[in-house]
Amino acid sequence: MYETERNELIDLLKKKGIQNKSLLAAITKIERHQFVPEIMIPNAYKDVALPIGYDQTISQPYTVAFMTQSLNPKPNQKILEIGTGSGYQAAILYEMGAKVFTIERNNNLYNSALKIFDKLGYNIAARCSDGSIGWEEFSPFDGIIVTAGSPSVPKNLLKQLAINGKLVIPVGDRSTQILKIITKASEEEFTTDEVPYFAFVPLIGREGWKEK
Ligand code: SAH
Repeated sequence: MYETERNELIDLLKKKGIQNKSLLAAITKIERHQFVPEIMIPNAYKDVALPIGYDQTISQPYTVAFMTQSLNPKPNQKILEIGTGSGYQAAILYEMGAKVFTIERNNNLYNSALKIFDKLGYNIAARCSDGSIGWEEFSPFDGIIVTAGSPSVPKNLLKQLAINGKLVIPVGDRSTQILKIITKASEEEFTTDEVPYFAFVPLIGREGWKEK
């Protein structure tokens, strides 16, 4: 269903500079409308963020694509996502062949994400907890993608990256952030690229913002 809409979205993403073939294939395959509340289905293939309840959003497709292209996950790499939300970003990583670990702090969103992963037959490791401190047990990760805005770069996430691993994280104030793409050159050395401006919901947790 909605193949025409998905192909139009792909054309738009290509025009905006998304080139990664396996990423475009994943977006072509995954039915974004299955990840949004029923009343949002007519908007599922517009390039906009949509509310998913509990004051949270499924990110704009371009943002998901840009972050994923920046992360550049390869098949069988271990990727940790912080902020499962609808599960759409995790689904993209899974379809690109990554071993996906994802953390969501909201119990309701966590449970509905589990359901959709199960429905689609995705073998994704998910947990309901504060992802700002990472998931030490399964570290190091080849990539970590944070889909909520953080006041600073959480130290634990840098620690849990493999050498040459990448952390993609929006950092800024509660409303606007710069996307940081951080590569771990060695245990102590990191290189950072920065891309302005993005608007994510806040990362709430020990190494994020305090709950209001
Ligand atoms: N990647 C999601 C985007 C969800 S929005 C998608 O594809 O739909 C960001 C999500 O981060 C929200 O669901 C929010 O509840 C969650 N979140 C915020 N702080 C968190 C934290 N410390 N740990 C885990 N999840 C967090």
